[in-house]
Amino acid sequence: MNVPDLSGTRVTVIGAARSGVGVARLLQKFHARVFVSDNGAEPALGPYLDELKKTQIPFEVGGHSLRVFDASLVVVSPGVPSNAPVVTEARTRGLRVVSELEVASWYCKAPVVAITGSNGKTTTTTLTGRILGDAKKKHAVAGNIGTAFSSVVLDMAETDLAVLEVSSFQLDHIESFRPHVAVLLNITPDHMDRYDHSMERYAASKARVFMNQTRDDILIYDVDDPWTSRTVDAAKSKRIGFSASKRLNEGAFVENDVLTTVLNGQKSSVIATREISIRGTHNLYNAMAATLVGQIEGVGPASIRATLRNFRGVEHRLEFVRELDGVRYYNDSKATNVDSVWYALQAFAEPVVLLLGGRDKGNDYRRLLDPVRSKVRTIVAIGESAEKVDHAFAGIVPVVRAGSMDDAVSKARSIARPGDLVLLSPACASFDWFKNYEQRGFVFKQLVNNL
Ligand code: ADP
Repeated sequence: MNVPDLSGTRVTVIGAARSGVGVARLLQKFHARVFVSDNGAEPALGPYLDELKKTQIPFEVGGHSLRVFDASLVVVSPGVPSNAPVVTEARTRGLRVVSELEVASWYCKAPVVAITGSNGKTTTTTLTGRILGDAKKKHAVAGNIGTAFSSVVLDMAETDLAVLEVSSFQLDHIESFRPHVAVLLNITPDHMDRYDHSMERYAASKARVFMNQTRDDILIYDVDDPWTSRTVDAAKSKRIGFSASKRLNEGAFVENDVLTTVLNGQKSSVIATREISIRGTHNLYNAMAATLVGQIEGVGPASIRATLRNFRGVEHRLEFVRELDGVRYYNDSKATNVDSVWYALQAFAEPVVLLLGGRDKGNDYRRLLDPVRSKVRTIVAIGESAEKVDHAFAGIVPVVRAGSMDDAVSKARSIARPGDLVLLSPACASFDWFKNYEQRGFVFKQLVNNL
């Protein structure tokens, strides 16, 4: 990779949080003239702005001024939607717009594993990191997951491995980003409001994860998911699939209830599926994807087995909270689209009191009608979209509306019978009642623990 010479070049970074500040500092080290702009409010950005002040990087918050466009390069942080007006304006003005991921990759000596998909990115990325860590392989986990890629990239050597969680917004603004292993977990409707309600556009964005790959690279993908298997047809890299329903000549699959892989003609029986700690078919997919990455990176099946037995999942993803009066409470606040709720319902056999709703992203609830009919006792409709939820499921199951999370939890408690589950799996963003999905999950857990 030829690293572009940016010394003296004016660069605007959009977004002044973790990744924005990370990339601003990285660019500053290479003598670019950096300016950071964020339309968010100052208090929320406090610690990041302190870092900008300390490093004397000029910035503005609370809106974007025209200074944003006085640059020859605009770098977009992961949280900024691809259709944000400031991004569109920069493009209209003919400016070069790239993502933080792209910039960081210019300086990365280590091979990259990039994990994307509509759901399961954080779980799979975390699990992959755990598999490599347990096997003492040097690596860094970064991307949309706690650590900005741009803040760790210069510390990585050629012999390390960068394991990145990558969102479609980041992929929308890559040019040369080329992971040596790409993982495409699934493509199901999400953020449809930001892709003109077009699955084709959304899938095309996900396909960018492999667009620069060559035959020397590897693409791991879900064979069972129709959008994914269709999308990977365009890849030039070596494709290795995973499937929960068919046996594959190469890849990961289930044989006699054992997660099995075949790679380079060598078959491994990795683990009995019931021994995998994280539950549900969706997590089996995540486990298969992470296993394949682990094996490709040289980790043996025995080590992977031990990790899969121990890995309990990530907070706010089908997280067990407590049992009270024979009712078990689960926090799945990160279920911010319809498909993740569908998988959450598949993961349980018990009757469910489902807390559903929030800020709608253009949801089509029809996919949930069957599992709701067969598994859900009552829906407690929450948030801004309570009315839409009510209409979508009227006549299918009882729907009660709640005016707050407190109200929702106490209604759920009075409805649930011993042996039931109370599940917060909202299918929606959290920004109507909460700062983010983490806060929604925390508030839910706190209320449940106070019952
Ligand atoms: P992401 O980082 O892509 O948002 P997470 O691992 O944070 O994915 O999980 C988000 C939500 O999706 C959670 O509710 C989780 O239970 C569910 N989920 C996880 N993996 C999958 C999958 N492979 N398919 C569908 N839903 C999934």
